[in-house]
Amino acid sequence: MPPSIDNQPERNIIVVGSGLAGLAMAVAATLRGFKVTVLEKAAKVGGAASYSGGQVWVAGSHVEEREGISDDAEAAAAYIRATGYEHPELIDEDAMYRWLETAPRAAKYFEEVGAAQWEIIPLADYYYPSAAGSCAKGRYLTSSCASSRLGSWKDRILISPHFPVGHPYSAVMDSGHNQVETERRESESAREETHLSAFGAGVQGASDSGAAADGSGRATPELLTFGTGVVGGFLAKALELGVTILTDQRAVRLETDESGRVVAVYGEGADATETRFAGDVVLCTSGIDWSPELVAKYWGIAEHAGSIAPRSLTGDGLRLAQSVGADIITWPVHNVPLIPGYATGDDEVPYAYCYEHALPHVFIVDSEGQRFCDDTQHGEIRRAALDPDDPHLPMFLVWDEEYHSKYALGPYIPGSTYPENVVSSAPTLSALAEKLRVNGDGLERTAEEFNAGALRGEDPRFGRGTNLKAKLWGGDPEHEPNANLGTVARPPFYGLTLKMCGAGINLTGIHVDTEGRALNEKGQVIEGLFATGACAAFTTSGTGYNSGYSLSRAMSMALLVTDVLDPETAAVV
Ligand SMILES: Cc1cc2nc3c(=O)[nH]c(=O)nc-3n(C[C@H](O)[C@H](O)[C@H](O)COP(=O)(O)OP(=O)(O)OC[C@H]3O[C@@H](n4cnc5c(N)ncnc54)[C@H](O)[C@@H]3O)c2cc1C
Repeated sequence: MPPSIDNQPERNIIVVGSGLAGLAMAVAATLRGFKVTVLEKAAKVGGAASYSGGQVWVAGSHVEEREGISDDAEAAAAYIRATGYEHPELIDEDAMYRWLETAPRAAKYFEEVGAAQWEIIPLADYYYPSAAGSCAKGRYLTSSCASSRLGSWKDRILISPHFPVGHPYSAVMDSGHNQVETERRESESAREETHLSAFGAGVQGASDSGAAADGSGRATPELLTFGTGVVGGFLAKALELGVTILTDQRAVRLETDESGRVVAVYGEGADATETRFAGDVVLCTSGIDWSPELVAKYWGIAEHAGSIAPRSLTGDGLRLAQSVGADIITWPVHNVPLIPGYATGDDEVPYAYCYEHALPHVFIVDSEGQRFCDDTQHGEIRRAALDPDDPHLPMFLVWDEEYHSKYALGPYIPGSTYPENVVSSAPTLSALAEKLRVNGDGLERTAEEFNAGALRGEDPRFGRGTNLKAKLWGGDPEHEPNANLGTVARPPFYGLTLKMCGAGINLTGIHVDTEGRALNEKGQVIEGLFATGACAAFTTSGTGYNSGYSLSRAMSMALLVTDVLDPETAAVV
């Protein structure tokens, strides 16, 4: 019989997963008098939320109000309706409203209790900027956190390898993502003489304290920003409240009583010993990204898939929920917000998120050597690449020496030698095409057409260089006449295969009701079992995912579940 922790089972809540959903749940429930235990499978806390951009999408927040921005849930609902109805059966209007109305309340609540200190990122709803209800500025919130608040946990939070943690958002908005990353890496390599053979390996954070590095080789900076900053604030609050957080503790099975109610979850430690944790169970385990079996089942593009999320996201929550009869709702893969990325050759961070495709002197082609979309934007690339009627996979990033001399590629600073297992190079476009197994004539024709437009700062076929976010964030603001357009003409030429990478947002997930209670196939509540964050199906927003929805839901659903568990105080919080 495994050891059991169940002294007061009716007040125990066992949270499975320590991303934003899990930590927000821990903070909210502890503040309402529950004894919360967080089980985290990985050695460090934070999940994909810690790796993320930290954009939290909230319409009508107190932060907008204090900045004089007029916005509300109705406008946000119009936006979701305009963008999320490709499959009407995948949206639940009641759940959508519940989330939209709860998000501003959650943002205010978590700020008041000291888990966040919100600021607005000056971004429009950039996935669908011209859709009804879209907002020019105000919905994107983020929060940073001094790492000293984490005490001895400072080195137990995942640091994002994908964003320049330590720098504020404003630096990225002013100079572009690539520029900030390049400067960070140049200063690091000058200081450390870092061997750049692997993505992120051996490099130090922007204003690092020299503390121990995390799994991706990044040390903990003094100021945590981006997703690491958002998670840092919630972690700091959870620790301050005395929440028990157990790392290397993988939830492996659920226990039900004779009525079918979930009464406990079993955790497996690093030494394979099992512990029984009694109480209501909240699954916050996020995506299926690193389960080849589930990727094949739900996405069907196994050979073209990768993930920029941590390796611990293997769909465990879906399996656990299914083991007690929960219903899973699935989305078509072309609606899932997969992001172009590429293999790095590094075991710790196997895929880099590709933001380079929005810079000048680069474009994306399919195996015919042809462009197929505005290749500055993730959403456009995904929709076109995975179009069920006209797919464009595999796809390739192609660039020239002009790019190589001016811009970084992931960890490879301008002018550095790319490793052969990551990048192919050749003196001519046709020789590069042969290496990439792309149609050479097609690639040469594409470059000719692209270059003619690039010289004028235009892309008549696909409108590259017209999206504001792609210019500000992804382009080179110094480049004339267009931040996103430069010729691909100077030899040698370079290329790599792009993958569609998961980011811990699968849309597919556990069917929950408006309050986060898990449902069975008949739509009945499974007592004692909840699912929040990215492991809960995105019925709140249907098919039109927008950046920031995931963290917003993760935070908001924590309040909804706590209200169900503690209805007496729900009205006053
Ligand atoms: C590079 C990148 C950028 C992103 N940018 C944004 C953004 O700006 N805005 C936004 O809204 N979203 C963004 N996302 C997506 C977002 O980060 C995720 O959807 C979000 O983190 C989901 O939150 P969560 O708490 O549900 O899951 P996660 O943050 O992924 O946490 C899940 C946790 O559960 C743990 N776990 C899994 N199985 C078990 C088990 N069996 N037992 C115990 N623990 C388990 C995992 O180890 C993990 O720590 C981004 C993602 C990435 C990778």
